[in-house]
Amino acid sequence: MENRLPHNERSGQVPGRDELARISRELEEVAAAEILDWASETYGDGLTLSVSFGGAEGMVLLDMVWRRGVNCHVFTLDTGFLFGETVKFREEVVARYGMEIEVMRPGLSVADQARQFGDALYDKNPDLCCYIRKVEPQRRALAGYGAWISGIRRGQTEQRAGTPIAGWEEDFGVAKIAPLARWTSEQVQEYVDRYEVPLNPLRGQGYKSIGCEPCTRKVAAGEDARAGRWSGQEKTECGLHSRSTWLTRLPAEKTRLLELEEDEK
Ligand code: SF4
Repeated sequence: MENRLPHNERSGQVPGRDELARISRELEEVAAAEILDWASETYGDGLTLSVSFGGAEGMVLLDMVWRRGVNCHVFTLDTGFLFGETVKFREEVVARYGMEIEVMRPGLSVADQARQFGDALYDKNPDLCCYIRKVEPQRRALAGYGAWISGIRRGQTEQRAGTPIAGWEEDFGVAKIAPLARWTSEQVQEYVDRYEVPLNPLRGQGYKSIGCEPCTRKVAAGEDARAGRWSGQEKTECGLHSRSTWLTRLPAEKTRLLELEEDEK
């Protein structure tokens, strides 16, 4: 891979949208760890990795980045609705790896959100809740970075089935790199076992995909891992990886929120 792909420190340029599409096709044959090397070569200090501390995939990437010494900023979103176990696990991981991880929080506290939108917004309007508590903080986290590394896999959901290895993320204005896009859940588990990667302890209690406490339930044996997310609702994505929820289903709420943001300026 050396010198084959653009290098921002060398050329001052990073791949544009069309170039990313071409590179992504080439990266289909490249191992995940080498995709990280390419991303580091290409984006230099402009590279950031998001880890939720809920799923195994983010932990695999965190371990890979640490193991290979990839120069990469790492951030996580704390919505204020995380399980206590997840927060504790995050602190243990930070101590174990000795890595700095930036914790991004929403502009609105849980109490302020309840005052403005009522209690349990996650029940009444989870897309709006996710926008306030995830999408907006993520936008701030990615500002100034050229590329965002994510642990999403094609096999996780229908919406993720077409995930490119590298592509342009319109909503956040960054390149999005998914080194594990082709991986199966078995491959993820193999990596975890091989390198003894720590996982969220809730996984041992029947939770398979772990997000915010109000929107996550345990799944039964044989049930899809993500069946426990927003169970009983049409919603399957928080909006971080799919623009459908917020932008297409909630134009009125978006307008209202933008007005609120304007008022706060
Ligand atoms: S997952 Fe639930 S609680 Fe968390 S931000 Fe989304 S709607 Fe709110």
